Amino acid sequence: MLNLTYTYRLKLTQQQSQTYEAWLETSRRVWNFALAQRKDWYSSRSCRIDACSRFREYIIPAGAPRPTFASQCKALTQARKTNPDLNAAHSQMLQQVLRRLEKAFIGMWETGRGFPRFKKQGRMRSLLFPQLGINPYLGNQIKLPGIGWVKMHLSRPLPDGFAVKQAQVVKQASGWYVMLTLQADIQIPDVMPHGQAVGIDLGLKSFLATSTGEQVVRPRFFVDLQRKLRLLQQRASHKVKGSNNWRKAIALVARLHEQIHDTRKDFHFKLAHQLCNQVGIIFAEDLNFKAWAKGMFSKHTLDAGEEAFLSILEWVSKKRGVYFALVNPNGTSQICPNCNHHTGKKDLSERVHHCGECGYTTDRDVAAAQVVMQRGLAAVGHTVKMLGEGLSTSSLLTQESPRL
Ligand SMILES: [Zn+2]
Repeated sequence: MLNLTYTYRLKLTQQQSQTYEAWLETSRRVWNFALAQRKDWYSSRSCRIDACSRFREYIIPAGAPRPTFASQCKALTQARKTNPDLNAAHSQMLQQVLRRLEKAFIGMWETGRGFPRFKKQGRMRSLLFPQLGINPYLGNQIKLPGIGWVKMHLSRPLPDGFAVKQAQVVKQASGWYVMLTLQADIQIPDVMPHGQAVGIDLGLKSFLATSTGEQVVRPRFFVDLQRKLRLLQQRASHKVKGSNNWRKAIALVARLHEQIHDTRKDFHFKLAHQLCNQVGIIFAEDLNFKAWAKGMFSKHTLDAGEEAFLSILEWVSKKRGVYFALVNPNGTSQICPNCNHHTGKKDLSERVHHCGECGYTTDRDVAAAQVVMQRGLAAVGHTVKMLGEGLSTSSLLTQESPRL
């Protein structure tokens, strides 16, 4: 099964955009209501027995079941019968809001993300339609729930032989967009390791270093755009909240956010293609980005978006037939790639790897990238051997990019 996501700009009429604005607001309220319900349930459980307030006990009886996606969907269906706003909005779309909330909770349990937050006015920006009608597009028009036919700016043609699996309508600062997930019954063969290999290290000094000694500097334009952003934010904060000038200033801030996002994505794609031009195998560190971002490098990390880059690199590799895998990141900067000697922890200010054992000297990030490549090759050799030993190939071929 091959999935593609194509994004197109929508040209909504005033009436169409009013309908979707209203649906966004309804979605926001559903989110906040459902979140409050879950939050109340948690706080009613979390109090200590000796300090439990009667108030909480009163609101939620001890035996009340935890609100789930299913129970909240049921409640939503009931509420639609009496609430005209809920009834006016697309029902499957509203259920997706509850699903997103469920996912946010699962994310919290499984990966330690923060407690889901309430959304302020205007912070709900997308409507997800899990399916569209039959033949949902014709020429440059698409038929969307609730508003009918809409003109799209067809920046590239829709591919043949694909069905629209879902449509997500997003309100950006620059206008409305639709992200179409298209699906075709095509198998992309998984890439087997072949050709030249390269290891990469996402560094602090440079954005990226390769095992072949290349270094990609952190792009300067991020810093410039960030500075511009701070300036615009300051300007907005000096305006009277709610005034016309304030609204204009806020819109400029939002536009710049979008520009930063696009510029970064563009940079990531170009870099990913450059890497794929050179080799058949890429290894990168499987970094625990959450822990890293929370630490002292938060500013840098968030600016350059290493995590976003790795997922783009994974996608581009797949498309270009390059084998991509993540390796264990532990201690990559503490080992000599030349002799495997454990050189001990390097201070962050130490920019050079120098091995006391064999005398090998190179840039710190390049040395780490070389260790990453060696680890990857060792693991791949192991996998290939396992294949020969009769491990079912299908289980290897269906897995996502392996974490070695
Ligand atoms: Zn050495």
